[in-house]
Amino acid sequence: MEHIHLETKNLSFTYPDGTQALKNVNLQIRKGEKIAIMGPNGAGKSTLFSHFNGLTEPTSGHVEVDGEKIVFERDQLLKVRQKVGIVFQDPNDQLFAPTVKEDVAFGPMNLGLEYEEVERRIKESLEMVGMAGFEEKTPHHLSGGQQKRVAIAGIVAMRPEIMILDEPTAGLDPEGVDKVLHILNKLNDEGISIVISSHDIEMVNEFADKIFVLYNGEIIAQGNKQQIFSDRELLKKAHLKAPVTTEILYKLKENGMDVDTEKLSIEETVAEILKNKKD
Ligand code: ADP
Ligand code: MG
Repeated sequence: MEHIHLETKNLSFTYPDGTQALKNVNLQIRKGEKIAIMGPNGAGKSTLFSHFNGLTEPTSGHVEVDGEKIVFERDQLLKVRQKVGIVFQDPNDQLFAPTVKEDVAFGPMNLGLEYEEVERRIKESLEMVGMAGFEEKTPHHLSGGQQKRVAIAGIVAMRPEIMILDEPTAGLDPEGVDKVLHILNKLNDEGISIVISSHDIEMVNEFADKIFVLYNGEIIAQGNKQQIFSDRELLKKAHLKAPVTTEILYKLKENGMDVDTEKLSIEETVAEILKNKKD
């Protein structure tokens, strides 16, 4: 029995100016999955994410968390927002307190937890993201990567079951990207379902189990990495690029080499080429 953690049913959303940002989106996320929502700028990724914990009310259709429809009433929304934590793309939209510590404390304090428990969670979540020791720093004085990790800590401190991260690696240097991916994998190992949005195919190749392709407000494809990355027409339509490994294998195949174009990691790709060399 697979537990459906988060689901949208015929979700559509139109902004007040008439922009139809989501069109009949149906997706299911199972417990413990690592999901990437891929799509170019303007596809509707951020709009979709703002529906996942009831920040935005659908124009039609609805969202379900653990099989329960999100109802737009205060108490219900508080429960949903504890279960589904969102990390915004821009840390400036998230970090506002004068110190890192106060920022991370904000969520747990709003849950009405006791002082000792709040302290414990601050310590635990800053350690989890590798930011212990920065408690008294001003968030605005941190690097982009550090701000991102503090923003993640603030959500981790709420102990969510599902974490939604909007373009979590955008603008980070390679080491920053690796650090964020490492944190997300650790959280996932603890059983938290993770949903990210991105148009960075190499990062998604490294991270995700499953991909949904969002284009012009619609889910135009879903599948595992092999299925999505080997569908070059789909990628072209969605203004995405295949990973470099896939491109290399396709070029070799076009040049008459008998390679499997669905290999994704660098190791697998190299093995595929070497195997051919021997034949
Ligand atoms: P993405 O995150 O994939 O880049 P968005 O969800 O931000 O896409 O935007 C989806 C569409 O909705 C785009 O056409 C965008 O211009 C439009 N949009 C986003 N925010 C607003 C808004 N506040 N008012 C009107 N249109 C908006
Ligand atoms: Mg966006």
